[in-house]
Amino acid sequence: MVEKGLLIVLSGPSGVGKGTVRKAIFDRPDTAFEYSISMTTRNPREGEIHGVDYFFKSRDEFEALIEQGKLLEYAEFVGNYYGTPVDYVRETLDSGKDVFLEIEVQGARQVREKFPEGLFIFLAPPSLTELENRITTRGTETEELIRQRMKAAKEEIELMDLYDYVVENDRVENACERINAIVIAEHCRRERV
Ligand code: 5GP
Repeated sequence: MVEKGLLIVLSGPSGVGKGTVRKAIFDRPDTAFEYSISMTTRNPREGEIHGVDYFFKSRDEFEALIEQGKLLEYAEFVGNYYGTPVDYVRETLDSGKDVFLEIEVQGARQVREKFPEGLFIFLAPPSLTELENRITTRGTETEELIRQRMKAAKEEIELMDLYDYVVENDRVENACERINAIVIAEHCRRERV
């Protein structure tokens, strides 16, 4: 029988750099886990590609996926839906491969309920001021959106206790190293007979 893969959930406040850390992890040639591409109703940012960064959906399409039970979790974040396709996750785990989710904290909480055995990693900013700088300098958001994202971030940071590990994102390379080390350690811990 094939050993099931590990479900790795990377979460944390918006603007902490989850996307950057995730991309850096998947740029490494030795990364062996599979990235689950999310569905979203938000518009693509410049350079984003359907089927690579996200599956971009209309609100109606997304709501149909919810009705049909096609999402492992979903959340509404700053006016848009984001969700994880359940079939892809289950099939990939069943085939023995590790699956990596990069999602916001409401979604991570739902995944914890369905997959308590998952590996939950919280990416934390060095400080809230640093987080605000990162959100502002990204330059893709209006002032109102920045305000909303900061409010969400403060609430999200309070949910840190749900996680198995907290990784500080002081530098992207450091965060990647720590996450890879955690995954390796977790396999060693779980696979002893
Ligand atoms: P962005 O619009 O900046 O790409 O993403 C906004 C937030 O949604 C980020 O915190 C990102 O991690 C989160 N996100 C991306 N995909 C999903 C998903 O499938 N489910 C949930 N719950 N959050 C997601």
